Amino acid sequence: MKILVVNAGSSSLKYQLIDMDDRSVMAKGQCERITVDGHFKHAAGDKQTEFDIALPDHKVAIELVLKYLTDAEYGVIGDMSEIAAVGHRIVNGGEVFPESCIMDEEKIRKLEALTEFAPLHNPPAVTGIRACIEVMGENVPQICVFDTSFHQTMPKEASVYAIPYKYYTDYGIRRFGAHGTSHKYVAGECARLMGKDPKDLKIVTCHLGNGSSITAVDGGKCIDTSMGFTPLAGLLMGTRCGDIDPAILPFIMQKDNIPVEEIGDFLNKKCGVLGLSGVSSDFRDLEAAAKEGNERAALALNMFNYQVKKFIGAYMAAMGGLDAIVFTAGIGENNAVMRKQICEELSFLGIEVDDAKNAERGKAQEITKPTSRVHVFVIPTNEELAIALDTEYLVRNA
Ligand code: ADP
Repeated sequence: MKILVVNAGSSSLKYQLIDMDDRSVMAKGQCERITVDGHFKHAAGDKQTEFDIALPDHKVAIELVLKYLTDAEYGVIGDMSEIAAVGHRIVNGGEVFPESCIMDEEKIRKLEALTEFAPLHNPPAVTGIRACIEVMGENVPQICVFDTSFHQTMPKEASVYAIPYKYYTDYGIRRFGAHGTSHKYVAGECARLMGKDPKDLKIVTCHLGNGSSITAVDGGKCIDTSMGFTPLAGLLMGTRCGDIDPAILPFIMQKDNIPVEEIGDFLNKKCGVLGLSGVSSDFRDLEAAAKEGNERAALALNMFNYQVKKFIGAYMAAMGGLDAIVFTAGIGENNAVMRKQICEELSFLGIEVDDAKNAERGKAQEITKPTSRVHVFVIPTNEELAIALDTEYLVRNA
């Protein structure tokens, strides 16, 4: 079965065509600057192409993607009909979508109604779904996989906020979390690598990238996660502040005359390790600066490690135990120094890192010794494959 995975943003559309028989990526690429002017990148095997082309809307973008997937030179399929289904990545499905599902007009309308929760992401995703239906026809199933679904199993203690309850019931303000597709995928892979049933495991999954979140997975289900109503909460990140005292907001808004419509941008784009260090949001730049003696860069790195460690401890307490920790995403997969430091500071849990394994890259594996009481894994995340797996499951069981 061949599945097209689509991640539509306001001016971009990323895609992968995955052959589910061997889980290989047949082709991938992206349309950029949609509605602005237009740029296209496509790669299939060792063939790739990239050029400017007018992309006035998402429908034209999808048409271009399908044209290249079936192209004589750059294509990998003979005809569009070989695509069994399309899996769409959706940032926020609210409480309406606790699971991935096949979309119909009613569900698309429900998703449209959730725009308030993900104003930058959900509308272009809906545009992407509608464009696929228009170009591919009504008979190709369009499946949505929501970044928030995996977190819907959180109990109320973890998901509502201590503000008047009417803000939950009337406005839907609660913890939604994010990166759920990634957390679910790596927790599943962790159980598989351990040869255990997910039901028997307590796992903390650390998705550490430009955006970072940590999730407590007890018995295969999410019971708590660090991101909140929006992805601003939890750990400090590349440019996001993470958890701060909410009283800071009115204080600095008054001091610096920041209008309410600009505060979101400030918290999302000017804070985190960038705001703290004044150097960069990229952890590689911070490491280089810290090595040269930049104290604020070193502080930002140490603070990140400290907060990761604190969340692991908190979630271990929440679950009443801990069998495994998983590191994933850009930083989690690539930053061996940070992993080692965090694990060493948690050595009181009986964590014993295998330095040779920790130094290896790109492999899903345990990086602790067999004698380690808590097992630590590095598992490269693969959100596209996770979306394709849900899509395949729903199509086969429809
Ligand atoms: P996004 O949330 O945009 O998907 P990623 O998961 O790609 O982000 O993570 C980006 C982060 O990963 C950057 O801060 C970058 O410094 C870090 N990173 C990527 N590669 C490496 C590497 N080889 N060593 C250390 N950090 C890395």
